[in-house]
Amino acid sequence: MNIILLGPPGAGKGTQAGRLVSERAMVQLSTGDMLRAAVKSGSPVGLRAKAVMEAGELVSDSIVSALIGERLDAGGTDAGVIFDGFPRTAPQAEALDLLLAERGRSLDYVVELEVDEAALTERVVGRFTCARCGEGYHDVFKRPVKAGVCDVCGSTEFKRRPDDNADTVATRMAEYRAKTAPILPIYEARGLVYRVNGMADIEEVAGAIGIILDKGGALDAF
Ligand code: ADP
Ligand code: ADP
Ligand code: ZN
Repeated sequence: MNIILLGPPGAGKGTQAGRLVSERAMVQLSTGDMLRAAVKSGSPVGLRAKAVMEAGELVSDSIVSALIGERLDAGGTDAGVIFDGFPRTAPQAEALDLLLAERGRSLDYVVELEVDEAALTERVVGRFTCARCGEGYHDVFKRPVKAGVCDVCGSTEFKRRPDDNADTVATRMAEYRAKTAPILPIYEARGLVYRVNGMADIEEVAGAIGIILDKGGALDAF
C-alpha cells in the first residue's frame, strides 16, 4: 500500500505517519526529514537546500524527486510507503507517478488532513522533537508524560526546527496554498482522495485514517 499524507505545515502529517510506521509495516518517506539530514551532513544537496528551507520556500522539484527515487531504490519499502510532505507541486506529482510506475507500483490513497489555518501557527511554533529518537511533541497538545523526558527513548534532549517560527510559517502556508493545494484535483479526478478532519485530536485522526486504509484491505479480501 502506498499512500500520500497531504496537508499544510502543522496539519499532523509527521505525527500520523509516525503512528502508521509503528502500527503497520509501513515506511515513512519525509522529504523534509531527508532534506534536514542533507543539511546536517553538509552534502551538496544540503548546501543548496539550507537557505531555501530557512526562508520557508520550496526546494527544487528535481532535488526532492531524486531523493524519493533513491529512497525507493534503497529497499525495505515493499510493505508500503507513506509519502509525507511529498509531492508538494504538480511536477512532483507527475514525477511520483513515474517513479512508482517504473517500479511496478502505484498509489492507493491520498489522505488530506483538513485543518483550520488559524490553528496551524500555534501547532508549528509549539512543535519540538526528541533529539535522539525523533518522536514529535508539542508544548500544549502533546507534552512528554514526564516533563523533559522522551516517552519513547528516555532522552532528555529535545530540538526545535529553525523554520518553525511565525514568519516562516506564513511563507510556508502561502507556498502550500499556491503550489500544493492545486495538486488535489489531479488526485480527486482519479478517485484517490479521502478527507480527514485534522482538527480532531491525534487519536481520533489516527482512527479515521485507519478506517480508510482498512477499507482497502477489506475490499482486497473479495
Ligand atoms: P506536519 O508534519 O504536518 O507539519 P506535525 O505532525 O509535525 O505536522 O504536527 C505539528 C505539531 O502539532 C506537532 O507538535 C504535533 O505534536 C502537533 N499535532 C499534530 N497533530 C495534532 C492534532 N490532531 N491536534 C493537536 N496537535 C497536533
Ligand atoms: P512541514 O512538516 O512543516 O510540512 P517539512 O518538514 O515537510 O515541513 O518541510 C520543511 C521544508 O523542507 C519546506 O518548507 C521546504 O523548504 C522543504 N521541503 C520539504 N519537502 C519538500 C518538497 N516535497 N518540495 C520542496 N521542498 C520541500
Ligand atoms: Zn526519544
